[in-house]
Amino acid sequence: MKQDPATPPHHRSNGFQNNYLEFEPKSLAEVLRWRFQAMRAGLPRPPATPIPQVAPELAFVHGNAGPDQQPAVTWIGHATVLAQLGGISLLTDPIFAERASPFGFIGPKRHQPPAIALPDLPHIELVVISHNHYDHLDRAAVTALARQPGGAPLFVVPLGLAAWFRDAGLQNVVELDWWQSHRLAVAGREEVEVMLVPAQHWSARGLNDRMQTLWGGFAVLAPDCHLFFAGDTAYSRDFADIRAHLAARQTAAAGGGFDIALLPIGAYAPRWFMASQHVDVAEAVKIHGDVGAKRSLGIHWGTFALTDEPLDEPPRVLRQERAAQGLGADDFFTLAIGATQRLRARHPQGPATP
Ligand SMILES: [Zn+2]
Repeated sequence: MKQDPATPPHHRSNGFQNNYLEFEPKSLAEVLRWRFQAMRAGLPRPPATPIPQVAPELAFVHGNAGPDQQPAVTWIGHATVLAQLGGISLLTDPIFAERASPFGFIGPKRHQPPAIALPDLPHIELVVISHNHYDHLDRAAVTALARQPGGAPLFVVPLGLAAWFRDAGLQNVVELDWWQSHRLAVAGREEVEVMLVPAQHWSARGLNDRMQTLWGGFAVLAPDCHLFFAGDTAYSRDFADIRAHLAARQTAAAGGGFDIALLPIGAYAPRWFMASQHVDVAEAVKIHGDVGAKRSLGIHWGTFALTDEPLDEPPRVLRQERAAQGLGADDFFTLAIGATQRLRARHPQGPATP
């Protein structure tokens, strides 16, 4: 098909595509082969150890929602992180549902409740959605967030997904193409810039909408913290591209690379089925290096058993991969569900001198 030279290569007449590896949907035969082999082998095996979960530091996250904020990330479960930076509180892919499925009675069921219930969250100014799969876009959660006391957050979503929000009655939505940004003015502070960046994945919510809405990750750039959220992704050269795209803004003098990257480390087995859509742990460690993150937090594990590896396996593999790559435990870490990691501010503002 001939393309208008002005049309970016990921825009196709029949939907969207990846930059580097064309996504080929698995055939029904392949899906059945995966499910049959997993069933016969009894996979996934139950976790050998409980998934770590701690009581959230509610007093800290509420106190940290306004001025004198310290950049911090709190893992709520799966790909849902409460990030506090730039004077705001934001959520990545808020999933609070019992099942990652269109139905309440079937589909992957959570092993762990969300660390913070929706009504206990601080006021959320921004929600970023990486793509429309059911383990990343939860209609009840975004609807509840839109009704939070103090006003709806801004929802920033990939191209084509705003219509779904408007259909759900949510108007406060901005959609972005890859490399496009939206800037939030934060009262009394500088701006927070939200940029959609490419990822190697796909989208679908029903049977007839495959690749019809875009997917991606987000760079959230605030004066005190640069955060990278990868969404769901396979490994590709997109991550080197992201670093190159932001190089001029992440020089050493400007504070360096991403202060924190939120990278998926679960849902990788078996590789013959998953490698074109989800990274394994070794590839997540490569992304940590490719994007130039100072530190990374491993997410997208421990919550929903979506694939063949045991729910508690990813952090064990991460320990091996860190050792193999010469990384320290702080460079690429995991948290207990509910735990908060405080981060060093990019440009420490400190108390104003009188
Ligand atoms: Zn996912």
